[in-house]
Amino acid sequence: MSLAPPSDLFDVAIVGAGPVGLAAAISCKRAGLSYVVLDKGCVVNAIFEYPTYMSFFTTAPELEIGNHPMVTGHDKPDRRDALMYYRLVAQREALNIEQYTSVTAVHAAPAGFTLETNRRDGIPDVLEARRVVVATGYYDNPLHLGISGEDSANISHYYTEAHPFMGLNVTVIGAGNSAADAALDLWRGGAKVTMVVRAPDLKSTIKYWVRPDLENRIKEGSIAAHFNSRVVDIGQDVVTVERQDGTTFELPTHFTFALTGYRPDLSFLSDLNLAQEPDACLVLDEQYESSTPGLFVVGSAGFAGKTNQVFIENGRHHAEAAVAEITRQLAGRAELLAH
Ligand SMILES: Cc1cc2nc3c(=O)[nH]c(=O)nc-3n(C[C@H](O)[C@H](O)[C@H](O)COP(=O)(O)OP(=O)(O)OC[C@H]3O[C@@H](n4cnc5c(N)ncnc54)[C@H](O)[C@@H]3O)c2cc1C
Repeated sequence: MSLAPPSDLFDVAIVGAGPVGLAAAISCKRAGLSYVVLDKGCVVNAIFEYPTYMSFFTTAPELEIGNHPMVTGHDKPDRRDALMYYRLVAQREALNIEQYTSVTAVHAAPAGFTLETNRRDGIPDVLEARRVVVATGYYDNPLHLGISGEDSANISHYYTEAHPFMGLNVTVIGAGNSAADAALDLWRGGAKVTMVVRAPDLKSTIKYWVRPDLENRIKEGSIAAHFNSRVVDIGQDVVTVERQDGTTFELPTHFTFALTGYRPDLSFLSDLNLAQEPDACLVLDEQYESSTPGLFVVGSAGFAGKTNQVFIENGRHHAEAAVAEITRQLAGRAELLAH
């Protein structure tokens, strides 16, 4: 029995080249495991899609991976700092990354797992791995409102920057950090901003340095806000808002940002029927191994709606724990094969 692996059989296939997937890749490399990282976009694609001028809420040391220092000239790194840092780390470590390659399905296989992929040129491909680490985050999958007009051109679930909205009526749907940051940035960019919030108040998770700023803008009337209300229709130049008592009114709106959160999309793992907790989080052990032996899920990907509890700061340690366990398992296997 030949021990030499077939050309595309890796010890570990890592799905997602975000900060957590990159941390897993560095750990694999340092453990001497053969690995490949597959990302449907560019390296740290989610961060690339973040608001153009966003700043992280944690400081640089909490975003570091592989003991590579993150050096910035300001307290809180911004999106550009993070893109540059993770790009440089990937280059310095010469990580084995296949960008623009999406994983469309994962199946159990004799050697471990078969991964179906769609490469950049659109050609489907297949590779095999003994173990799989899923680090796909949540930012690709916005929570949809399920209302008419949601697929029109004058609404987005992603905020970039304020410049093109100067002087326009912009409606921001949501009550969390993304909505708060966007509303303030748009107002400072000269847009006429109205927030529509289903709850009676803003979310308690709003960053402590952002909340008073937004509350004062609302109090002074610079930013309009409708609480206990929800948008029920997106029209060409108005949105229809429904109050708690069921009455509705029209809000003149040139563009709408629906910043209502995101959820992990693990549909590409459906063949494996992973066990879930009642709150839809995956059943994972301390090493982040799922109910399918050999498949590990790290970072926010396995935590369903708990996106505000798992982030880079702790997700990077998930990756290290998972790869340490994989190394232990494969070492045990190699020993077995040697006898
Ligand atoms: C505006 C904002 C501010 C934030 N600020 C902070 C902060 O200050 N500190 C902090 O620690 N965290 C912060 N977070 C959270 C943090 O960014 C995420 O928790 C983190 O990005 C998760 O890293 P990840 O590697 O698990 O996932 P991501 O960074 O989301 O990476 C997942 C990668 O997987 C790829 N992918 C997805 N599906 C597939 C597939 N089927 N095939 C191939 N590739 C796939 C995506 O393209 C993406 O590149 C913030 C998040 C947002 C939205």
